[in-house]
This record gives sequence, structure tokens and C-alpha cells, in this order.
Amino acid sequence: MPDSSPLREDSASPWWRGGLRFSCRRCGGCCGREPGVVLFTDAEMAEMSSALGVGEGEFERLYVWRKYGLRSLRERANYDCVFLDGGGCVIYHARPAQCRRFPFWPEILKNKPSWDFYSRNCPGMDEGDLHDYEAIAGYLSKYEETGGGG
Ligand code: SF4
Repeated sequence: MPDSSPLREDSASPWWRGGLRFSCRRCGGCCGREPGVVLFTDAEMAEMSSALGVGEGEFERLYVWRKYGLRSLRERANYDCVFLDGGGCVIYHARPAQCRRFPFWPEILKNKPSWDFYSRNCPGMDEGDLHDYEAIAGYLSKYEETGGGG
């Protein structure tokens, strides 16, 4: 577990111990605007391919590239995810775990100012369903276990 882990830093009492509210509004705001990497497992690629009705070879050719040495979903010139369109994510129900776990990522949960910073562009944060301590700790553990993908 890296030293920067929100689980390790304040494991006795992280600032989010009381849980956090979040329900995705599917606005697509977290799916672009700035450069990023969207990791996925082979099983997730199979799910995404199936959702689009294309073979995995075709999926890789059209929608995958290597960025920072990592296999990632492509992004457009404006940094939007290749699967973001005007109505949101076109593979929402088959999106990878990295996307499903947003905004419960280590860099967002590291402190309250970071959470507040990201919430300015996400209307789903601080609204909707309550995610309790156990759920958030589970997201973070899974993130650390997989390096963010899967
Ligand atoms: S910015 Fe927030 S509400 Fe909008 S799609 Fe992303 S997670 Fe959902």
C-alpha cells in the first residue's frame, strides 16, 4: 500500500469516516476536459466490446491506445473520452471499474479540499446516496489492489 494512501494516512479517522453522498447524474463531466488514463481488464474489454457489438480486435483498433505506457481507452483531441457523446457515456452499463469507482479515488479522497475541488465539476458529489465508511474503504482497497484498473 503506498504511503500516500488515504487509508493509511488517517486510518484511525479519515475525514470521510462518516461517509459521503454521491449519485451519478450521468452528465459526462468527469469523462473529459483534461488528459487522463482509463484502465480496464481483459474481462472489461470483453464487456465493452459486447455492449458495442464489435469483436475485441476491432474494439482495440478503434478505441484503445497506450498512454504513459498503459493500455487505456482513447481520448479525443479535447481530452474527452472516446465513449463520451452529447448524452453521456455510450457504454455506461459496461463501463470499467475505474469509472464506476469515481469519485472514490485516492487523489480525490486524500483530503476535504480535494473532494471539494472535484465536486465543483461533478453535480453528483455531496448529493444522493450515502456511501458509508466500509463502502469507501472497499473502493480504496480495490483501487490499491488493482492499481486503479479492474
Ligand atoms: S461528473 Fe459526476 S454526475 Fe457527471 S457523469 Fe461524472 S460522476 Fe456522474
